[in-house]
Amino acid sequence: MATEAPKKSKPVHAPMSQFPVIDNCLHVAGKPITDIAKEIGSTPFYVYDKQLITDNFKQLRTAMPDAISIHYAMKANPMPEIVNHLASLTNGLDVASKGELEVALKTGIDPEEISFAGPGKTNDELEAAIKAGIIINMESEGEMERIAQISENLGTRAVVSVRVNPDFELKTSGMKMGGGPKPFGVDAERVPDMLQRIGELGLDFRGFHIFSGSQNLRPEAVIEAQTKTFELAAKLAEHAPSAIKWLNIGGGLGIPYFPGEQRLNLKPIADNLAKLLEQYQPQLPEAEIVMELGRYLVGEAGLYVCEVIDVKESRGTTYAITNGGMHHHLSVSGNFGQIIRKNYPVCIGNRVDAEKKQPVNVVGPLCTPLDILADKFELPIPETGDLFVVYQSGAYGATASPINFLSHPGVQEIIL
Ligand SMILES: *Cc1c(COP(=O)(O)O)cnc(C)c1O
Repeated sequence: MATEAPKKSKPVHAPMSQFPVIDNCLHVAGKPITDIAKEIGSTPFYVYDKQLITDNFKQLRTAMPDAISIHYAMKANPMPEIVNHLASLTNGLDVASKGELEVALKTGIDPEEISFAGPGKTNDELEAAIKAGIIINMESEGEMERIAQISENLGTRAVVSVRVNPDFELKTSGMKMGGGPKPFGVDAERVPDMLQRIGELGLDFRGFHIFSGSQNLRPEAVIEAQTKTFELAAKLAEHAPSAIKWLNIGGGLGIPYFPGEQRLNLKPIADNLAKLLEQYQPQLPEAEIVMELGRYLVGEAGLYVCEVIDVKESRGTTYAITNGGMHHHLSVSGNFGQIIRKNYPVCIGNRVDAEKKQPVNVVGPLCTPLDILADKFELPIPETGDLFVVYQSGAYGATASPINFLSHPGVQEIIL
């Protein structure tokens, strides 16, 4: 028998089966995308599926040990309807500004279930946080002193934790996620002195926040980070002015964006967390362990939809030009944290499949070569009026984009 050398197949995108295709048309919450576009009356828009957010959260909740609290990091998508919905599902919210804090407080959740991280908190923001009684993750000694002063002026004891810049380096799969100088948090080796000062200042100390990186799709890297996080927290706890009530181990669970990426396997992460909870129970007996997730909770439940305005050929390359682009969706253009641009999963929503497909360059309307939505992507031959859809757009979309660049219209957001 003749043996053929196995062909090295090109990596492909993970299937986007969360949005069904019926009669060749993409559906969201049981509705054809074409009907949704008609109802909204104009493109571009973001559409989010509430049920998908719920289902995804429930899967995560079931997978993780019961003793792990799950918080939503609002900066991934601060749309109030989404924040309200996730406030009802999760154990709390993480905010990164006074603006986010206002949205979080409006959900009606207990302020002690809101935490506030971010370097460069202004006195005005700190005052709002202290008045609200939320947990402030302190990012520096200077911030601690300002908090103490504002607390004294207000006559209100501030609720605080220390955001730690870990002293460990994670080299799993070549990715370095900590250990060096950082604008975030306080270097681990300085934390013992800071803890002593917290005691002197009489702040209401709760614990630590240790965040070691975003968009992680490798269980072994997450496991290593979480294991070292517990180890560090237990070591620092020896210097704390009071028992650790709160340990925020960060988030960073990723979702598949690019060819060859797969959904994260939660099982080994959950198993390791169960082991850590048991192992560190004697050292951290009173601590609530919190995971704060942004992208993982909303990223897969959203689509960005824009419309093909023009189709043209240029020296053998087909361009579809849309009315949406990097000003609404910076990350699909490859300019938000990517080093080499890769394609997001995309489709033509009104004709997902066609007998004939060809490589198409899809670009936005901005006069800059950065405004790329898809590069040589196999798509049905595009036509004016087609709805071009970007999957995995529920996180870091509209609010993470330079919406005013070139003064085009903004983008609508709806949740179904
Ligand atoms: C951005 C951020 C998160 C959320 O990160 P994701 O990768 O979206 O899960 C969590 N915690 C802090 C402190 C952050 O700044």
